[in-house]
Amino acid sequence: MRTGPDDHTEPGAPVVDHARHPGPGEPAPSEPAARTGLGPHKAASGCPPEQRTDDLGTKSPRPGSGRTAQPSTVATDIPTDIARKWQEMTDLLAEILRVPAALIMRIEPPDIVVCVSSESKGNPFAPNERARLGSGLYCESVLKSRTPLLIPNALKDEQWKSNPDIELGLISYLGFPISWPTGDIFGTICVLDDRANHYSKAYQALMEQCRDVIEMDLKSIFALDARLTEEARAKERLEQQVAERTADLRHANAQLRQKIAEHERTEAALRKVAEECRCAEEALRTSQELLRAIIDSSTAIVAVKDIEGRYLLVNRRFEELFGVAREAIVGKRDDDVFSREHAEALRAFDRRALLAGTALKDEEVMPEDDGVHTYLTIKFPLRDAAGVPYAVGGISTDITERKKIEAERALVLEHEQRARTAAEAAVRMRDDFLSIASHELYTPIAGLKLAVQGLMREATTLPAGATKLARMAERQCQRLVRLIEDLLDVARIQAGKLDLRLGDVDLRALSREVVEHFDVELKQAGSTVSWRADAPVVGMWDRARLEQVVTNLVLNAIKYGRGKPIEISVAAEGEVARLVVADRGIGIDASCAPYIFERFERGVSAQHYGGLGLGLYISRQIVDGHGGSIRVESELGAGAAFIVELPLRRRRDALPTEVSAPTGGPDEPAG
Ligand code: ADP
Repeated sequence: MRTGPDDHTEPGAPVVDHARHPGPGEPAPSEPAARTGLGPHKAASGCPPEQRTDDLGTKSPRPGSGRTAQPSTVATDIPTDIARKWQEMTDLLAEILRVPAALIMRIEPPDIVVCVSSESKGNPFAPNERARLGSGLYCESVLKSRTPLLIPNALKDEQWKSNPDIELGLISYLGFPISWPTGDIFGTICVLDDRANHYSKAYQALMEQCRDVIEMDLKSIFALDARLTEEARAKERLEQQVAERTADLRHANAQLRQKIAEHERTEAALRKVAEECRCAEEALRTSQELLRAIIDSSTAIVAVKDIEGRYLLVNRRFEELFGVAREAIVGKRDDDVFSREHAEALRAFDRRALLAGTALKDEEVMPEDDGVHTYLTIKFPLRDAAGVPYAVGGISTDITERKKIEAERALVLEHEQRARTAAEAAVRMRDDFLSIASHELYTPIAGLKLAVQGLMREATTLPAGATKLARMAERQCQRLVRLIEDLLDVARIQAGKLDLRLGDVDLRALSREVVEHFDVELKQAGSTVSWRADAPVVGMWDRARLEQVVTNLVLNAIKYGRGKPIEISVAAEGEVARLVVADRGIGIDASCAPYIFERFERGVSAQHYGGLGLGLYISRQIVDGHGGSIRVESELGAGAAFIVELPLRRRRDALPTEVSAPTGGPDEPAG
């Protein structure tokens, strides 16, 4: 080690001479460790990766431990211009102090790094060389004690004689601690000599000045760093604010978009509602026009008045009839249009309808040009959506004509009623007369019949001409008896006294006997009878009455048969005995067929065919009385077939003993 310029060394210098042992309270230098030396740098000068708390009291936040109020003192880069200045400073120091090495060391835990190394001859330290803390370097002592250290000759110093720098030949050392403005240790500024060197006070002062310059630089770096940190923080705050603002804006934007969408939806809904309203209005207008057309085309008078009696609406008929335009009448009252009396009547009806709360019907009379007209008016309250009546409507139909017709009809009905009563009286009189007459006639005719029969018994004693006349008289007498008996039967039927005397009767035998009886009439008419009656048909019937039925049918077949053949069939089918008398005569008009079984009903003119129109009536009463039926099948001009059906076995409880009086019928006056 070069001998330092001892002459420059001034006593009293504040440096600690480590040629001596450290005093009490002074930090003990660490044991000289094996020289590890300062190796080649691994990180950029002045840019250690992180700062840790170490035994030198260097404190700085670890990465990720959060930022302190002050900027990091280790992580701070040394600006180039300051680095250059420091370089020049160390170069000058080396030159002035004539030492091989002037260094600015910096702590970058866990290392100590050569921050600046003088470009001087014999300097073994290269910038950025680093050594582990705890290697026993001179600087470590300075850093620990935070006081200057002067080692004039390490070789003579027990404490330092194993110092690793000795291996490099550097045996003297002068170092000063450098602090950040915060008080944290930055590093050291030191000079090393390869000779024993006491470094004069001037040198020490120079070094101190250099240290102060560096600390000033650190202050400005620190301030700059603080400003930059603050700026960074402000920038970060700003960015945060921008981010928050952006988020707010994004949120507001989303809300706005949502509101716009809502607005658009509302607008669409409103448009739809407006369209629906328009459609509804259109429909309302159409229905109003339709209603107007309907009420205008009505022949009835239509008017609507508010509850105060002011006209709201009238139809065309109203306008025509009362000579007022609808525009002119709106808002007017009845007494503006009609006479006081008529207006009062109209208004009273309105009030009644409003009071009743329902439609009321009444007749109204109105004097018109062609006389007084009668109207059937319906008045009804019109209600609003809440059900409160706001108007009264009226529809008046002119029923003058109808009233006239009704009056005429009533008159006709009265006449009819009178005529009916008269006809009923006449029928009653006729029936009474027939009843009396037939009774009165029957006794002399019965006497006459007996007399003629007596005469016929004496026929052999009579001249031939008299016999013939007597036979003729007998036949006419029988005919007369039948007519009177028919009349008597009608009277009996009317009185409900047509008795049936039931007994076993063979319908086939009975029919044959009847036909035989009319042998003469058949001959006179030129008709023949053919039979279809294979077996006896026996039932419980009234013989005399059935004879009467068969007689009527056969005589009609002879009378209306036009001399054509007559067919008679008698047969039993199941529970029914059927007798058919068919001819091929004039037949019956279909329009007459329903009536020929009624009393005095005839389908032929009296001029051409004699008869009372009672035969079929009595026959039907008798057949009905037996529980049977009679009907006709006929075609006009082609003949007629009368079919009688009688029950073969009758239920006892249904067995009638007399024929009940018929009620009404075509013979009765029309009702
Ligand atoms: P009447 O023969 O005395 O007129 P009826 O009661 O026997 O009375 O008959 C009623 C009517 O029925 C007759 O007037 C006639 O028009 C019609 N009629 C009855 N029998 C026949 C028949 N066989 N052919 C055509 N018409 C008949």
